[in-house]
This record gives sequence, structure tokens and C-alpha cells, in this order.
Amino acid sequence: MKEQALSAIRFSMSRRTVIKLLAGFKRFRDRYFLGEHSLYGSHLSSGQSPKTLVIACSDSRVDPSLMASADPGELFVVRNVANLVPPYESARSGLHGVSAAIEFAVKNLKVENIVVLGHRQCGGIQSLVEGIEDKDSFIVPWVRIAQRAREKVLSENPQSDLQTLCRLCEKESIVVSLQNLRTFPFVEDAIEHRSLQLLGIYFDLEKGDLLEFDEASKEFRSLTGN
Ligand SMILES: [Zn+2]
Repeated sequence: MKEQALSAIRFSMSRRTVIKLLAGFKRFRDRYFLGEHSLYGSHLSSGQSPKTLVIACSDSRVDPSLMASADPGELFVVRNVANLVPPYESARSGLHGVSAAIEFAVKNLKVENIVVLGHRQCGGIQSLVEGIEDKDSFIVPWVRIAQRAREKVLSENPQSDLQTLCRLCEKESIVVSLQNLRTFPFVEDAIEHRSLQLLGIYFDLEKGDLLEFDEASKEFRSLTGN
């Protein structure tokens, strides 16, 4: 096919995407600006006061607001590859997007809960488990935030296949992120002085189940009874 025809197809595909987005935005506007749930008209146009920070994966199948049937203004959301929280580091070196969002949620918005939302079939966690080496990749060093989850799962399950290791590591990496959250002085301070809650949740997108990490038993338990 000629380059001109290919670029015409590409253009028409991207236009279709924009038209779909626009149609979706019109429904959103009808509901939240003009309709009976006119949240922007009533209070959201002047500020936000979400009670929960969610740290979720960028995976297109794991949208926290959709999953929780949340309205605009309810959830403050950070999404990244494999829903990871890096450990606290000095702000004087490097760029810390996730840490900045956590800081804003905890210190400015004073959220009452932080949820780390992991999920089944996480591509980021699979690349961590596989131990891919690629010096030019941003993903490889990023997912190594959960390296100790990988080491724990591999040492405790030396005979398991890749899929089993991934399922275990997806959950264990949530625990690592919960531990890393507590390395932030302002998170620890909010836990101590205003009862900030940290929750680890795992979305099994094959079974349609939601599991919560139980700190006492160190296990994930179904919230839906499935
Ligand atoms: Zn993921």
C-alpha cells in the first residue's frame, strides 16, 4: 500500500478516536455539569476534597474511579507502571512524580486513606519476575522498586511456573509499596496523629474478585466472598 493511503488510514483512525472521546465527554458533561449530578456546578468548580488517594497501575483495565463507581472529586489517583510506591528519598535529587502526588494528597488534601491497588495480569510485574535486562528501558529500573518482592517469591516458590510467580509477586509488591509508604515522614506522621489508613487491595480481573491485604495474617482475603 502506498504511504499516502496508509497515512490517510492512520488519520481516519485517530479522528475516530477523537470523535469517540468527544462523544464520551458530552455524556460526562450532561451528567456532571448539567444534569441532576451537577457536581461541578455545585462545588467541584471551586475545589476538591477527596478522602482517598489511590495508587493504581496504568493498565487500561484497572481504572479505580470506574471500579469504585466513584464520582468526580471522590478519588485522588496516581497511576504508574505496576502501581508502585518508591521509597522516600531526598527531594534534592531526581524527579519524584509519585512522591509529589503522595505529598500533595497527605499534606494538602489530608486524605484519610491511601489504597495501593494491584491487579492480576500486570505486565510490569511480569517483566520484574522475568528479570529482563535492558539498559535503555525506563520500565526495568522502575519495577525494581519491588525487587525484594521478587526475591521473596522466588526463594519461597523455587518450583513454581512463571504465571504462579507473577500472581504471587503482584500481591507481594503491594506489600512492598505499603512498606515504602511508611518511609515517608509525613505519611508516618499522619498515621500517628490523624489515623491515616493504608490499605492494600488486589483486583483479580479474571475472577472479578477484590482482595484486601490483612496485616495480622499477612494474607490477602476476598472482600466479595468469591
Ligand atoms: Zn499492571
